[in-house]
Parts: sequence; C-alpha cells; structure tokens
Amino acid sequence: MTNASNIPMSRRTVLAGASVAGFAAVTPVSASLLPDPEKTEDYDVVVIGSGMAGCAAALEAAGSGARVVVLEKLAENRMGGNSALAGGLFAAPLSASDADKSAFVADFEGKALGRGNSELYRLMAQNITGDLAWLSENGVPFNPPVPSPTYKVQTATVSPGAYMGMPRMLQGLRDRITEAGGSFRFETKAQQLIMNDRAAVSGVRAVGPDGVVDFNAGAVVIAAGGYAGNTQVMEAYSDPNAGALMVRGVTSATGDGLLMGQSAGAGLKGMGGVMALHIAAVDTVETAAGNPFMILPYCLSVNRNGARFIDESKGYVAHGKAVLSQPQQQASLVFDGTIAALPAGEGTLGTFRRLGINIIEAASIEELAESIDVPVDALVQTVTDFNAAVQGDKTEGIEPGKAALAHRIEGPTYYAIHPLAPGVTLTFGGLMINGNSEVLEADGRVIRGLYAAGEGAGAPFFDDYVGGASLTNCLVMGRIAGRSAIS
Ligand SMILES: Cc1cc2nc3c(=O)[nH]c(=O)nc-3n(C[C@H](O)[C@H](O)[C@H](O)COP(=O)(O)OP(=O)(O)OC[C@H]3O[C@@H](n4cnc5c(N)ncnc54)[C@H](O)[C@@H]3O)c2cc1C
Repeated sequence: MTNASNIPMSRRTVLAGASVAGFAAVTPVSASLLPDPEKTEDYDVVVIGSGMAGCAAALEAAGSGARVVVLEKLAENRMGGNSALAGGLFAAPLSASDADKSAFVADFEGKALGRGNSELYRLMAQNITGDLAWLSENGVPFNPPVPSPTYKVQTATVSPGAYMGMPRMLQGLRDRITEAGGSFRFETKAQQLIMNDRAAVSGVRAVGPDGVVDFNAGAVVIAAGGYAGNTQVMEAYSDPNAGALMVRGVTSATGDGLLMGQSAGAGLKGMGGVMALHIAAVDTVETAAGNPFMILPYCLSVNRNGARFIDESKGYVAHGKAVLSQPQQQASLVFDGTIAALPAGEGTLGTFRRLGINIIEAASIEELAESIDVPVDALVQTVTDFNAAVQGDKTEGIEPGKAALAHRIEGPTYYAIHPLAPGVTLTFGGLMINGNSEVLEADGRVIRGLYAAGEGAGAPFFDDYVGGASLTNCLVMGRIAGRSAIS
C-alpha cells in the first residue's frame, strides 16, 4: 500500500472536479476551484459515498487491515443515499450450478438488448451467493429467496421485508467498518481528485465541517451513485425532457463521481437517451416505495382512456417507459381478488397498505372505472376483450398481447392501484471500469489508484434490468473494488 502524503504538495496536481469539469455534453456550471486545504489526513483507501457499493468496498478494505475513510456529502442521519431508500431486493442465480449461472447472465443480457456489461454479469453470477452470505456473516438478515416470476433468477430481500431493512443494514455495516478501524465523514463533499507525479490518483480534496481537507491515500474508490438528481446531466444525455421526470431517490445523486472520474481522464459508457434510465410508474405520493413491481405482470395496465398499451408481463421498467407516452403520463393497474391472493398480490398489497397507499376496491368494472375516472364503456370493453383472448397463461388475437402470466379479470371484487406516474429509480450509464473495478480511460488504459463501483460504474444495464440487479452489482463490484484498492 502506498502513502500518497509522502509526495510533496508541489508534485501533486489537484484536478478540477465535481463543480468544475464537465461531461462533454454539459456546460460547466461553476468555475470555482477550492483553495488549498486547511489540513491533510492520510489513509490507505478513501471511499466516496456511503451506499451499498461504498460500504461493501470500505468493509472489505478495512477488514483486511487498511486505513479507510468514507466521505459522504449527506448528513449522518441520511447515510446510505439511494441504498437506504431501496426495497432491499438482491438478484441471484437460482442455484450454484453452472447452468443457472448462465441462465442468470442470459436474462441480464436479454434485458439490456445486448448492450449491457456481460463481464459484470458473470462476476455477479459467480459472486453474489457468497457475497450475500458475507453480508449475513456481518449481521444482515435476509428473508428466504423467492423466484422472479419471469426470469431464471431469484431475489433475496433484506429482512424484515421490502422497503424496511436497508437503513438498518447500512447502519450495521457502518458499525462493522468502524470496529475494523475505518471512519466516516458526513456532510463532507468530495470535490476534486488529487493526482501525483506518477500519474496515479493519490487522494481527494473535500469540503466539510473542517473546511477544505485533503484526504491522501494510495487508492480512491468512487462509489458516489448515479446522476438522477442532476437535471443538467439528465437533459444533456438522457433526453431533453428527462430533467422533468420525478426522481424517486435522493437528489444527492448528482453524478459527482462521473465528473471527478472524467477529470482524471476516465471514459463514460451507456449514457444513451431514456435507454440509460430505469423508469418505473409509481404511486404519485409515495414515489420512493410505491412501485407495484410484483403484482404488475399479472394485472391489466390501462391509460386515461381505459385502454391497455403494453404487455404487462414485460415488467416494470418497460411499463414505466411506456407510460411516458400515454395521455397525462398516467396509468392504473386493474386486477381482481384472484390476483390479489397470489403471493405477488399479497406482497404488493401488504407493502402498499403498510405505507398507507390507497388501493381502490369496487364490486364491478363499471364502479371501478368511475373510481379511477376512465370512460366506463372503454374499460368494460378492455376487460371483456382481454378475458376473451386469454388462452392458458397467454393471450391470442389482441394487441397488445400478453406473453405470460395472463389471468382473466373476473371479480367478484375488482381492484385498482391508481394513479401511477413515471419516476427515475436509477441511472444506467457511468464510468468505464474493468473486472477489477479499476477505472479506465476511453481507450481502455487503467487510471492507477482510481477504482469505482455501484450505480455510477461499469454501465451494467441498458434500457431495462432484472429487479434486484442494482444492489447485486453494488455489493459484488463494491467488494471487488475494496479488494483491488488494497492489492
Ligand atoms: C426507491 C428506490 C428503490 C430501489 N430498490 C431497489 C432494490 O430493491 N433492488 C435493487 O437492486 N435496486 C434498487 N434500487 C436502486 C438501488 O437502490 C441503487 O442503484 C443503489 O442503491 C445505488 O447504490 P450506490 O452505492 O451505487 O449509490 P448510493 O446508494 O446512491 O450511494 C452513493 C452515495 O454517495 C454520496 N455522494 C454523491 N456524491 C458525493 C460526493 N461528491 N462526496 C461525498 N458523497 C457523495 C451520495 O450522497 C450517496 O449517499 C432502488 C432505488 C430507489 C430510488
């Protein structure tokens, strides 16, 4: 492990960072450079970000005896960024067999239209089962895994269940990191990378309660999340209108890691249009937790005209993107008591009721149509046509059809989750990395001393993803980053 503080200031370069450097497509918003630091501190590893990827990297490194500090720009009571808000689902292969690992990789590749990151998928398939066991050894309880309805994947949810376990899990990991000698600095924003005269990254200049501080280190791990909270980046890269989308997560996900990485020469990947966004149609009041992802594939999703517009079995990201082009960008999920009684139905309804989200109930389709304010005749026709088209678990002869999980809507009680509107859950593009989590220049050269993991690294996903895949990526690549940073 090197100690960057041995290099005199005059031989180090502080790179323009989060507030200065721009993505190629983004005009710099501020030209202010930080003044010289009021103090310096020396570590083996500096981790930027206290979410799933940052905690995994920090615990891996600190557990091996490295001196580690985690910088987090949010306040202590908001530790964990988007990871703290997450449902807590981790995707894993159905078993440890090679066939199931290959099926997991194939599902991920299919979802990303062949434009994802197969190297990362293979690492996830290989490592996630062991990494979940590692979390358990570190005090993180999981509910028994359940198979995903439409993939050859199972998901394990942090106990006690969806949207309940992540803050406690992150707090527990923080305790473990601290016990291993690591430390956290909250309200401390990493602003600029420091580079030594050997062209290696050797620290981070940050601003926090102690003023400007240089955190010198042999390695820096960028685990600063995505860019959904940065309107300028969203509009420049994803879509001219993307800045107007609801953001389900924290607004501190402003792409700082991408900007800092770029200032050190890093390449970016997968930043293409709405294909680079995970958009889910969610409850408009509980935007963070109100994603009816489990029940959706069994339901009929109707627009403001009472018409279906997508094969609901394609899942919640495809659905969310389809809602973008519907009248008023709204949708309602329609289902009956049979679907409500399925495990996916009970799971969704249980979560929604716990959150106080209203589920509409009616004794007839006509009554339901009035409750969700869509034309009665149109909704009756939609349900009648759909029911007539169901053959086994598919439909025949209607558009859009349903390729799986088709259930007739027959009552006697009818339900709706309404209204749902599109919101960004996570962003897909980010810093180029290799399988060791080393950050790469656009031509594939390794930037020494710089590692990245999590939502903003490796561009694992494109267009769509398998539920639970992001936390899996953060955990697996975060641990790899922690190991690589101390090797
Ligand atoms: C409501 C919701 C539910 C979700 N549910 C799931 C789920 O169940 N399963 C799943 O796989 N995915 C889920 N996701 C996505 C998943 O939560 C995220 O992709 C993942 O948590 C990202 O983890 P991360 O460690 O990369 O980043 P984050 O958890 O976002 O952590 C990054 C941290 O870095 C900090 N930071 C940023 N810039 C700086 C800086 N300059 N200096 C210091 N700190 C900085 C941020 O404040 C943040 O705390 C969900 C997302 C949302 C919003």
